[in-house]
Amino acid sequence: MLLARLIAFAVLGLLATAPGLAHAATFDVDHATQLWLATLSAPAKARSDAYFEGGEWLALWGTLFSLAICWFLLRVRLLAKVRDAMHRRGWRPWLGLLACALVFIAVDTLLSLPWSFYTGYLRERQYGLMNQSVAAWLGDQAIGLVLGAVTGSLLLLVIYAVIRKYPKHWWLIGTGVVGIAISFLVLITPVFIVPLFNTQSELPDGPVRARVVAMAKAYNVPSEHIYLVDASRQSDRISANVSGIGPTIRISLNDNLLKKTSEAETAAVMGHELGHYVLGHVWRTVIVLTLLMGLLLWLASRIAPALIRHSGQRWDVRGLSDPASLPVLAGVLSVLSLLATPLTNTLIRVDESEADAFGLDAAREPDGFASSAMKLSAYRKITPGPLEEMLFFDHPSGQTRVRMAMQWKKDHVPGATEVVPPPLPDPKP
Ligand SMILES: [Zn+2]
Repeated sequence: MLLARLIAFAVLGLLATAPGLAHAATFDVDHATQLWLATLSAPAKARSDAYFEGGEWLALWGTLFSLAICWFLLRVRLLAKVRDAMHRRGWRPWLGLLACALVFIAVDTLLSLPWSFYTGYLRERQYGLMNQSVAAWLGDQAIGLVLGAVTGSLLLLVIYAVIRKYPKHWWLIGTGVVGIAISFLVLITPVFIVPLFNTQSELPDGPVRARVVAMAKAYNVPSEHIYLVDASRQSDRISANVSGIGPTIRISLNDNLLKKTSEAETAAVMGHELGHYVLGHVWRTVIVLTLLMGLLLWLASRIAPALIRHSGQRWDVRGLSDPASLPVLAGVLSVLSLLATPLTNTLIRVDESEADAFGLDAAREPDGFASSAMKLSAYRKITPGPLEEMLFFDHPSGQTRVRMAMQWKKDHVPGATEVVPPPLPDPKP
């Protein structure tokens, strides 16, 4: 089989380089798409499908796991005990709440550690995506815990103060609070949060930088800084992103993208990121996610008090404004967010598809775009069914992206010819 693949590779490689041989009189979008999809070998496709489909199930098991933790904390009345201990010491209510929030975040993180270790480390390693040692991974988790404890407890202090003051309409004001918190986090991410985990440097001068700068200038996007992030510190995934809001907004690419893709592919990906920037997707995402959070908080404001009425006595939880109710609120919100996943995915996927279309116009590299979309098979299923793509995909699938690129090629490249791409390398054993 290996020999057959090598021969196929040699023949396809020759075809790709021999001018005219792969020429098609009229460009056939379907056929060109199939040629790209065929670059993924059967074993590589099986592995890519297994990784992605496994991830779909992990989302469900992960929610059940956090529900189990919340239920356990309620059964042992941990936060009720913290609340009472703080009360006996005569601490102010807000300090008692802070203590409850910190204990909850710390215990929840520790109890989830085996699960996070399997999903975030072992499984990633198994699929050849993990580049970190266990110690380095644990170090990142510890930074994440501190970060989560600071931001989470501040947010909870405000939310519980709002619940106390407006027991009926707290969810509405809470939505505003969450919106401000999301915007603030997005604002500080590139400047204060990314540097805690990675080093950002200027993308070195060269053809890739010149290409990105030229594209940015064409759309009046500031291009003095193009950031390169050493994502290979953690993983093998290729990606790029737009982060920040207002004064901190920036386009970055990760070093895996630079290492593993050609100039045409990098340009295609950066055209997509430029699309997010120019089309104002960061703001749109913040607003959309805040509205979605409003819906979840409204539902939680109905469900959580009902649960407390039913079992509050057994858990020693006296109402939603009691800080001991935290696991109830967290459990309800984790189930609601799981149920909202298809909606969240679709809202994000619409932006992603818009950025794809923009990127094709900006970079004019349909084959580079198709090729980079195929390389994402390392972590995203390439040919899902339509329903699966709608429910589980927060980006268009490889298949959808390749077809869009080939359609663009037909519509925009006069005398477009088919490229016969070389097969993608098989996954590491
Ligand atoms: Zn994107």
